[in-house]
Amino acid sequence: MGFSESGNKKLWKQKYPLLEPITNLEPILWLNQRIKEEQHTPELPLTKKDMYEAEKLWKRFVPFLKKAFSELEETDGQIESPLKRLDSLKPVLEDYYHFNIDGNLYVKCDNELPIAGSIKARGGFYEVLHYAEKLAIENGLMSYDGNYEAFLSEEFKSFFKQYSIGVGSTGNLGLSIGIMSAALGFTVTVYMSADAKQWKKDLLREKGVRVVEFTGDFSEAIHAGRQETIADPKGYFVDDESSRHLFLGYSVAALRLEKQLEEMDINVDADNPLFLYLPCGVGGSPGGITFGMKQLFGNHVHCFFAEPTHSPSVLLGLLTGEKDQICVQDFGIDNHTEADGLAVGRPSSFATSISEHLISGIYTVEDDALYKILTMLADNEDLYVEPSATAGLLGPKYILKSTYIEQYNINIDNATHIAWSTGGDLVPNFDMKQYYEKGKILLA
Ligand SMILES: *Cc1c(COP(=O)(O)O)cnc(C)c1O
Repeated sequence: MGFSESGNKKLWKQKYPLLEPITNLEPILWLNQRIKEEQHTPELPLTKKDMYEAEKLWKRFVPFLKKAFSELEETDGQIESPLKRLDSLKPVLEDYYHFNIDGNLYVKCDNELPIAGSIKARGGFYEVLHYAEKLAIENGLMSYDGNYEAFLSEEFKSFFKQYSIGVGSTGNLGLSIGIMSAALGFTVTVYMSADAKQWKKDLLREKGVRVVEFTGDFSEAIHAGRQETIADPKGYFVDDESSRHLFLGYSVAALRLEKQLEEMDINVDADNPLFLYLPCGVGGSPGGITFGMKQLFGNHVHCFFAEPTHSPSVLLGLLTGEKDQICVQDFGIDNHTEADGLAVGRPSSFATSISEHLISGIYTVEDDALYKILTMLADNEDLYVEPSATAGLLGPKYILKSTYIEQYNINIDNATHIAWSTGGDLVPNFDMKQYYEKGKILLA
């Protein structure tokens, strides 16, 4: 590829001066000029209708979900998370980082999503359910208007057992694919990268999932998993580097959020802009949510991704325009971060080809800052999340101090800021305590 040759690197840096601080691992904000230059968003590989269709699939599976997972009885089969206003944390953040948030700050608590405890419940569950439905319908076991409780029957389970599902993961995607596949009876293998936490592997094995461990990073785990899975004629690989289904599953979050905003009397229009801050790994979950929100709110919603300074994969892909053709290692960046959900060196090709037309920008965050926010969130709001999940809360600090607001002439007096909290509920107490203590020391 040649990007890592020193001569080439110099040329890149001349063309894109921001590469200098990025390769020095400094936290930065990149604004996506493309959205300004493009008069109209080009035709995307997905439509608003696809998103509504995806929501319908979730509805068809409600009877199954309610029966298969006892925790969904009280939610009536819905896998959704609350939107919470952070009145106590907001002044603390403003004080600590010396800035002012006009309007309100909220957190979307996907760390509390049932069953999987992370945002992967949206994309991962959706893709597995979609595949199960397709198989059942193609084989005459089910029709779209049938009773999906049948997916719990022994007949279905022994049918699905002949099919294998594989997935490469830094942890959370493996959890969601593993749990849902096992519940349906699939033979499932999770290929875990070196940064995956031990407790995630243990939990999966407990559920009857085969876990294969790699010493390399996420891209290696995906590559090996893909090869092994597709070698089986009845194998299906959930490909986080290019999945349309994961993306659509995430996009449904926009429809749910739209409803929550309505219920909470939060307007989104020219006088009440909405800012979304989304932690980003391969770019699938933040991309899907951005796609959905843009379909619903157009220019009144401004979506920013957050990546670790050591794993700015989507940032490098979009900044250079090379997307999945490059990885952070090409620029001498090591992809080592405590934010395991974001420890991704190469972006998703499918997601970035859409996000490049829709997102407002990307900022990068140091691991230490993630721990500090984690502890602040716990102390002030009694919310316990994993390090990756806190990256969105730094968004207002970057954006409100930047030229973005002026450039687009945005009235921020009544803005709504939503940081997407992406995971945490399944983290064992022992690990959570260590995260918290680490933040406490950093804040002292
Ligand atoms: C996967 C994940 C993300 C990012 O999602 P991508 O689709 O990889 O961009 C963010 N936070 C957590 C906790 C995750 O597990």
